[in-house]
Amino acid sequence: MPEPILVAIAWPYANAEIHVGNLTGSHLPGDIFARYNRLRGRDVAMVSGSDSHGTPVTIKADAEGKTALEVAKRYHEGFLDLLQQVGITYDLFTTTHTENHFSVSQRIFLALHKNNFLYTEKQMQWYSPSLKRFLPDRYVEGTCYICGYDKARSDQCDKCGTLLDPAKLIEPRCKIDGSTPELRETEHFFLDLGRLQGQVEEYLKTKESFWRQNVLRQSLGQMQADALHGRAITRDLDWGIPVPVEGWQGKCLYVWFEAVIGYLSAAIEYTKLSGDVEGWRKWWQNPDARASYFIGKDNIPFHAIIWPAELLGVGTDFDPKGVLTLPYNVPANEFMNLEGEKISGGRNWAVWGRDFLSRYDPDPLRYYLTVNMPETRDSDWDWEDFFHKNNDELLATWGNLSNRVLPMIFRQWDGIVPEPGELTPLDQELISEVEKGFETVATEFEAVNLRAALSEGMRIAGLANKYLDTTAPWKTVKTDKQAAARAVYTALRAIDSLKILLAPVLPFTSEKLNRFLGYSEPIFGRQFTEVIKDDLGEHRVLRYDASTARGAWQPSDLKPGTRLNPPEPLFKKLDISIVQEERAKLGKSSS
Ligand SMILES: [Zn+2]
Repeated sequence: MPEPILVAIAWPYANAEIHVGNLTGSHLPGDIFARYNRLRGRDVAMVSGSDSHGTPVTIKADAEGKTALEVAKRYHEGFLDLLQQVGITYDLFTTTHTENHFSVSQRIFLALHKNNFLYTEKQMQWYSPSLKRFLPDRYVEGTCYICGYDKARSDQCDKCGTLLDPAKLIEPRCKIDGSTPELRETEHFFLDLGRLQGQVEEYLKTKESFWRQNVLRQSLGQMQADALHGRAITRDLDWGIPVPVEGWQGKCLYVWFEAVIGYLSAAIEYTKLSGDVEGWRKWWQNPDARASYFIGKDNIPFHAIIWPAELLGVGTDFDPKGVLTLPYNVPANEFMNLEGEKISGGRNWAVWGRDFLSRYDPDPLRYYLTVNMPETRDSDWDWEDFFHKNNDELLATWGNLSNRVLPMIFRQWDGIVPEPGELTPLDQELISEVEKGFETVATEFEAVNLRAALSEGMRIAGLANKYLDTTAPWKTVKTDKQAAARAVYTALRAIDSLKILLAPVLPFTSEKLNRFLGYSEPIFGRQFTEVIKDDLGEHRVLRYDASTARGAWQPSDLKPGTRLNPPEPLFKKLDISIVQEERAKLGKSSS
């Protein structure tokens, strides 16, 4: 049985477009990992969706004079467009505003309630006397009492990552009208994290040997330094999932509590859409399943502490057939900055995914975001660096490799892979080096070291270039056509293998190359969208049809006599002028 792999990717808030920092933080690493595992023949479910609820969306809606649903839908449609253009192959990308997600979230809430991991408490909540309403945490900002950051949200500081106690916030102000809010009493449900601390700690200790240091520091480390406290999971807000308890009308489940449940509800929706209502258990009630969560560092406490606590607290009370699978790995990324400054959508200091793709191809984007992935420390998008990486690495090393060989096969051998005769030790050495790549690159992918995986693939592409420099078939073809045939055949085998080694990162050009190399069936499947109707209305989802995919994680077996298809260059050479043009757009209004 192939090992089931759940690829769980952070749910983007449906209140802003996706920029390159979001892509490299979660969607792209998740997609690379999913594509690699699919090539290994494993049973992958890659799920996420738009986080449609909560104050990030209502704040945007208030600002635009629209309903929260209208705003959420508009951004969701934009996500679906971008995710297809950049090839993020979700098995299901849905939204939290579905009947299925409402019901799964409410069942999780009730299971925790039944197991006594919820309690109610009256608390003081920010209230705006001028607006005559309670103000959810994101409507209030102030100075962080831990690090002094002056734009901390009242529940979380984005600078130091601490979950904050709203009442301790220094100099609070209302984000709607700037007035000073006051604290008033209201009653809420709390998740009793203190009672789950022991179980969560025990679970996290099993991860010490292989989780990223930043993730361990912000989960196990933080818990050991400061014990977990109960945390409110309901709030005074009318946009979201109703609290499923009599007498609690007008209050909703807190978005951080229900959005993480989306990993479960989306798997349930996914297998139901595929006609297998029990299928979700393969990932969610199976001790052999491995669930990896691709998120940014700001989300670590939610995925490495709170979500495991929710799952542990539920036990078998979500579904009597078994407990729910805990995260296997949480390879959280740090942040990507832009030209040395923090990316800021508000002041348009950002490279937006869809805008970028209106001028450039997706694989150069995927390449640059992978070589620059903020795996262990913050990284920086720099347009001059992008220009050089495109021209001097991607095009010079990988694009050029096929350019040196494929057109020549059309000139000299009518587009048919020539018979090599007996291979020399030099030829065999290259083939064996490339074949070893199926282990060395795999080791890095397995450990979610995606930068290292790509760099190992590119090192091997470099070996193939060196081999061509040495054998120079374009010269020997004039004097010893058999030697030239041997060299181009050997290089083609290398290219055919490299196409697979690099495919998780560069799927679009690998597919192109696959066609040039005479294959009639694609490496990967096909993305498509579909409209689903339920009692909450309609929602469009993004899906992935794997039925036509034929790619496999194994070395080339390209046969002499294979007819190739006419090649084209894989990558465009960029002009240095783009650096200035792109930099000039930063920080300016986009409209
Ligand atoms: Zn802080």
